[in-house]
Amino acid sequence: MHSEIRECDVLIVGGGPAGLSVASTLPDDVSTIIVHQDREIGKPVRTSGGSWVAALQALGVPEHCYLVLEKNEAYSDNEHAELPLGKNAAILAITELYQWLASLSDHKDRDLLLATKFLDCALQDDGSILSDIRTRDGEKSQIRSKYIVDGTGWHTSVLHSLGLAEKPERLGVGIEYEYPLGKNDPTRAFIFFGDSAPSGYGWGFPTPEGMFRLGIGVINPDTDLSPRDVMNKVMENNPEERFGIDLSGDYTVNSGILPSIAYESKLVYGNVIRVGDSANFATPTMGEGIRVCIEFGRLLGENLGKTVKSGNRWHLWKYEWACRIRLQKDYFFGFLMNTRGAQMLSPDQWDRSVLRMKTVDPETLMQTLRSEFRFKKMFLIVFFSAKGRLQNLFRKLTSILRRR
Ligand SMILES: Cc1cc2nc3c(=O)[nH]c(=O)nc-3n(C[C@H](O)[C@H](O)[C@H](O)COP(=O)(O)OP(=O)(O)OC[C@H]3O[C@@H](n4cnc5c(N)ncnc54)[C@H](O)[C@@H]3O)c2cc1C
Repeated sequence: MHSEIRECDVLIVGGGPAGLSVASTLPDDVSTIIVHQDREIGKPVRTSGGSWVAALQALGVPEHCYLVLEKNEAYSDNEHAELPLGKNAAILAITELYQWLASLSDHKDRDLLLATKFLDCALQDDGSILSDIRTRDGEKSQIRSKYIVDGTGWHTSVLHSLGLAEKPERLGVGIEYEYPLGKNDPTRAFIFFGDSAPSGYGWGFPTPEGMFRLGIGVINPDTDLSPRDVMNKVMENNPEERFGIDLSGDYTVNSGILPSIAYESKLVYGNVIRVGDSANFATPTMGEGIRVCIEFGRLLGENLGKTVKSGNRWHLWKYEWACRIRLQKDYFFGFLMNTRGAQMLSPDQWDRSVLRMKTVDPETLMQTLRSEFRFKKMFLIVFFSAKGRLQNLFRKLTSILRRR
C-alpha cells in the first residue's frame, strides 16, 4: 500500500557527487527531491578520491576537502619510478566533500530523503514520471516528477527500470584497507601494476583525515579474481617492505564498483537524464570520476533548470553535446588504453611502462592519467593497440597450426 504521492519538478535518484552537483545548480525555486539509499551522505566510502589540484580549485572545492600530494611513485613487479607530478595531484576527503556538495543546495526548494531507495518508475500519459520508493523501515510511497535524473552510479537504476539501459557488463571493482596513518609519509602516494594487480592497478596513499589506504581495483570479467583475492595476495607478499609503508593497527574495509565500458554519448531520453557513473563519466585510464561528475552535474543542473522554466528541451541537448565534445574522443582513446592494459600487457611490459613514466614529460604523463589525448598520443595508442591485437591473433593462429 502506498501512503502518499509527493509532487516535484525534478527527482534526482542517487546522492553521490553527480546527483548532488545537479541539485546545487538547479534554480532555488525548482522543487527537487533527492532520494539516496544510504543513511548519510558520503558514508560508507565507496571510492578512493585521487584527483587534481587545478581541477579542484577551478570547481571551488574548499581546501579542507583535499590533501595535496608531494611525492608520487609507481611500481611494477620489478621496477620503481618517481613520477614527475610535482604538487599537482591530490586526495579528496570523500565524506567531507560530498557533505559540502550537499550543503550547496540546502537553501533551495529541495528535500533530501536519506535511507530511501528508488525501486521503480513508469512514464505517465501526461509526460510525468511516477516513481516508487521505500524507506529502510519498509515504508513505501510514490513521487510524481516532471523530470528524473539517474545519478545512481553503476546501478543505473532509473534507466534500467525504464528499459533504457542494461546494467554494465564490465565493471571496475575495488577494495581498500584503511589504516591509521602511523609512520607513513603524509604526502606520499603510489600506484602499482603488473602481476600483483592483474587486469587493474593498486594504490596506497594518505588521506586528509589522517589515515592511510592500501587498495586494489580489478576489472571483471577480464579477470575472474575478486579484488579481495588479489588483496590477499598483496598482503601475503610483504607490502610493508615492498612499498616502504607502515600497516600497523586495525583496519577498516571500503569497497566500491564503477562501470568500465566504452563511453556512450546519449544522456537525454525525453524527461529522463543520466549523469555521473550511470553515464560512464569516470575516466577510462584511471577510473577517476569525481571532478568530472561535479563539473557535468553542475552543467546539467543549470540546463535542466532552464528547461523546467521554459519547457524548451534545447538546454538538455546542450548538456548532452557539451559532454560529448569534452569526453567522447578522449574516452574512446582512453578506453583503448584501458582494454590494452587490462587484457594484454604482460608483467614485462608493465616494467617497461613504469620505466617510461620516469622519463616522460610531466604534462604528457598528467594528460594520460587524466585521459586527455593529443594527436601524437592518439596515434601511438591506436598503433600499439592494433599491434597487440595482431600479435594475439598471430599467436592464436600459430598455436592452431601447430596442433594440426
Ligand atoms: C574502487 C573505486 C575507486 C575509485 N577511485 C577514484 C579516484 O581515486 N578518484 C576519482 O575521482 N574517482 C574514483 N572513482 C570513481 C568515482 O567514485 C565515481 O566516478 C563517482 O563516485 C561517481 O559518482 P556518481 O554520483 O555518479 O555515483 P556514485 O558515487 O556511485 O553515487 C551514486 C549513489 O546513488 C545511490 N543509489 C544507487 N542506487 C540507488 C537507488 N536505487 N535508490 C537510491 N539511491 C541509490 C548509491 O548508494 C550511491 O551512493 C573510484 C571508484 C571506485 C569504485
